[in-house]
This record gives sequence, structure tokens and C-alpha cells, in this order.
Amino acid sequence: MRYEFTIQVSPEIAAHPDQLKTFIARKNGISIDEIKHIQILKRSIDARQKAIKVNLKLKVYVQEDFIDQPIELPDYPDVTHAPEIVIIGAGPAGLFAALRCIELGCKPIVLERGKDVRSRRRDLKAINRDHIVNEDSNYCFGEGGAGTYSDGKLYTRSKKRGDVQRILELLVGFGATDQILVEAHPHIGTNKLPGIITTIREKIIEKGGEIHFETRVIDFEIKNSEIYGVTLQNGSTIATNKVILATGHSARDIFELLYHKKVVIEAKPFALGVRVEHSQRLIDQIQYKCEVRGPYLPPSPYSLVKQIGGRGMYSFCMCPGGVIAPCATSPGEVVTNGWSPSKRDQPTSNSGIVVELRNEDFKEFSKYGPLSGMYFQKSIEQLAWQIGGETQKVPAQRLVDMVEGKLSKDLPVTSYTPGVTSADMGAVFPKFIHHTLQEGFKAFDKSMRGYLTNDAVVHAPESRTSSPVRIPRDLKTLEHLQIKGLYPCGEGAGYAGGIISAAIDGEKCAQACVETIKFKTV
Ligand code: FAD
Repeated sequence: MRYEFTIQVSPEIAAHPDQLKTFIARKNGISIDEIKHIQILKRSIDARQKAIKVNLKLKVYVQEDFIDQPIELPDYPDVTHAPEIVIIGAGPAGLFAALRCIELGCKPIVLERGKDVRSRRRDLKAINRDHIVNEDSNYCFGEGGAGTYSDGKLYTRSKKRGDVQRILELLVGFGATDQILVEAHPHIGTNKLPGIITTIREKIIEKGGEIHFETRVIDFEIKNSEIYGVTLQNGSTIATNKVILATGHSARDIFELLYHKKVVIEAKPFALGVRVEHSQRLIDQIQYKCEVRGPYLPPSPYSLVKQIGGRGMYSFCMCPGGVIAPCATSPGEVVTNGWSPSKRDQPTSNSGIVVELRNEDFKEFSKYGPLSGMYFQKSIEQLAWQIGGETQKVPAQRLVDMVEGKLSKDLPVTSYTPGVTSADMGAVFPKFIHHTLQEGFKAFDKSMRGYLTNDAVVHAPESRTSSPVRIPRDLKTLEHLQIKGLYPCGEGAGYAGGIISAAIDGEKCAQACVETIKFKTV
């Protein structure tokens, strides 16, 4: 017999299968020996009370053996000679589009401006250590896209996005821990992601797909509102009438190209602010209401949202036990984001703290039309670069000093490897953002007492939260509204915000594209 139920137990019991078995046997009046297996279906932490509890959704096998059914990958066919679909970008959207193309019998040809995950590491070292930004290979560009050297948090704010479970199962099939199917807030970690991405690439190639690194697309061949080819940086052209465009939100040259080719694009609201770093110990103390985090609890995350004068301010991409990374994609700008290893064992925690922006905020840049938000974003990144000292050092300020508008006399060493320069955030941001951040941090402290401390440091800017541009598409066919054969996809096109939703969108676009192909019957 199998019983499915939800229980609350202490973190210690949750961490020890034997103790859990004893607990369940006692609670349900059954003998321990009768319990053959306990399968944990979902796990979440309830830290609202001082006595922290773990919620477990369980399937208990009583007098019945458990048969383990490992997650299997779909039976991908060989597509060496199948109809071809060109996919631009090997981020989560592009890679999952490629896998879906194969599953549905088409051959993906993936074009990626960056390098494979291993070669990419050298360029990450160069930006961290030597302040050199490679415009094709950095924290945003390269195999696996912005998702590779990220935190690898695998949840999406919107449940409406699609089949999250399917993407999680595919990731497990490609080597991720099966715990991502159990945790309420699954996470992979920067150290594990490259291996998973490599396995995905190997599968695509094994099945007859192609992936071309260091292959930047610089032009689209369009005639009579139909795409018929893409031009590469080396001058060659690939003839194709099926293109999935999954270039991410940092591919400004692609947005510029579309704009100059008069392909319809739209300005899109996004959010921008700072990345704040606290000690993980402080966050644990606040969240777990204890002096030291217990041995059975993970480094605590947090999530905060406030309305300040009618404008939203919220935490974004919070990385417990993580590090702040330099995520610029061009020289002459600075950008922050965060990552963490799978164990989340760094002494610091960081989070983007961003202010909601609206299209009317970009009026000053209206001459750039649909690119006004992008130019606004760029102007802040460039100003921060100047204020930071024209290297990859970023402007930084102690948190209370920022709220009080005082320049920090000194700054502690933070996890941001290129270094920090003491600066007033009022000089980096327009007044409305600066003021919202100041008031918002005060409000955050009301929800998390102790959060507003001068031991915390804000780094500027956190500016690549989502795309400042939307590439509009038909809701049904997913083709660009005006260009036949072009499928705007993923975060850069404005249809995703994070690894999971980008992967889901990649699959959707591949499916929509394959549906238009007439397969030859033999
Ligand atoms: P991208 O991942 O941006 O991929 C686009 C790809 O297109 C890139 O590889 C790029 O090189 C390529 N490309 C661009 N232009 C061209 C061109 N002209 N020719 C050929 N190729 C081109 N999200 C989460 O859900 N959880 C997290 O924990 C998380 N942490 C993050 C941490 C960091 C440091 C960063 C930078 C991002 C993080 N994100 C996280 C965001 C997440 O990575 C993105 O939402 C996601 O990668 C978007 O997927 P995408 O495929 O749409 O675009």
C-alpha cells in the first residue's frame, strides 16, 4: 500500500531517513518494519516561527516495495538528414529549442557568438582579474548563455509559463541532481552547470545537430517580409527560412540591427538598481531567528517586495552563500549580478534590489525610439564605469550611508573580485531611482529587522534583470509579427525571465517552427 501525505517535522528529522521513518511509524501506529520506503515528493522550509519546520510531501510504501524509476531522456531520433532550423544563441532558450527540434525530427544548427563552457572560463578570469571584457565571451555570452555561470536557481515567479516539471526532468536526465524535483526552490550551482550544459551539447551533436561556437550573427537576409538567411561575422551567409532568435537580453547589437532594418521591436518596461551584499550569517540570524544557523538548515534566502510612492522595489535573483560577478558585455560599462556554488557555502549573500521602470522613465532617450530603455540602461552602466574608475571596479556604498546620502569613508572587502570604489549612489542613478532605493531599504528593514546595516554594501548597477526590448510575435504561430520564418525567443525577445522560463520558451518556439515544416514521406 502507498500513502501520500504532507507532514511538518524538525530539520533534524527531515535530514535523517531513520528518524523520519520512526516518526512516521509512531504517528501512524504502524511498525517500522512495515515501512519499505519513504519517497520525498516535495520539501520546503517554514521559518515563520522560531521553531523552524520542514514541510514534506511524502509517499510512504507500507508492505510494498518501491521500484525506482530513474528519469529517462526522450528517445531522440537521428536528425542528420532532417529539415534544418537555425537557432541563434546557445543559452537555455536556444539549447532547449535545439533539443525539442531533434525530438520532433528536425536538425538544429545552433550559432553561438561565444565559446564552449570550458574555453569561456579564461575570459571570466580576464574580466575578474585583468578587467578585460571580451564582447563575445563573458558571464552573459557563451555556451549555456547567461545561465551557465549563474546561480542556477530553477524557479519561475509565474506558474503560467508552462511545463516547469518537464524542464526539471530534462535537466535531471542531463545530469542535474534529482533533488531539483523535490525542493520547493531548486538550485544547481555554478560549479555543476557547465557539466550539464556539456552533456546537452554532446547529445545535440550525437543526434546529428550542429553547434558552432565563436559564430556571431551580424545580419538577417529579409525579402518581402520573409527571412531567407543569416550573415555571420566572417562574411558567410547561411541560407535558411526558419530562424529561432534566442540571443538574450544583452545582445544590444541584435536589437540595433533589427531597429535599423525596420523590423518591428518595442520598448519594454524593466527594472534596475543595485546588488546588495550582507554576511550570510546575518541573513540566517534574521530569517531563522537564531544566533547561528543549525546544522540541518541551508543558508537562508530572502524575498522582499515593497511599494514606494507607487513604484515597486523588490529583491531579484537572491544568492545565498554566493558571490557578486562582473557581468558587463562591452568595455566601458559595469554590470553586476550574482552566483553561488551548489553548496552555497560562501560567507556572503547577495541580491539584486531593483526598482520597477516604465517606458515614460526613458523620455530623455526617446530619440532612440524602441531602444530608449536600452539606451537608458546603457547610460547608467557607462556612468557607473566612469565613477568606478574606468575599470571593472564598481561604485559601492555602505547600506546605511546610501540610505542617509553619505559617502562611505571606507569600504569592507566584498565578494566582487574586480574591486569597489566608494561612491554616492545619488551620482550613479537618476533621483527617482535613488530615492526609491533609499526609502525601499528602510521599508525592507521593517520586514527583516537588522537588514539595514552599515556592514552591508550596495554595488551598482544591477541593470540586466530583464530585456528592455520586446520583439513582438504572433501569439499563436510565435512568428515575428511582420517577418515570416523568424521566431523571437527567450529572455531577449521579452518572453522569459530566468533559466526555466527561457528553456520553456525555447521548446515552445521549436514546436511552433517545426509545425510549419512539411516533412517528406518516404
Ligand atoms: P541567454 O542566456 O542570454 O543566451 C543568449 C545567447 O545568445 C548567449 O549565449 C549569447 O552569446 C548568444 N548570442 C547573443 N548574440 C548573438 C549573436 N549575434 N550571434 C550568435 N549568438 C549570439 N536565472 C535564473 O533563472 N536563475 C538564476 O539563478 C540566475 N542567475 C543568474 C546569474 C548571472 C550571473 C546571470 C548573468 C544571469 C542569471 N540568471 C538566472 C538569468 C538567466 O541566466 C537568464 O534569464 C537566461 O539565461 C536567459 O536565457 P536565454 O537563452 O533567453 O538568453
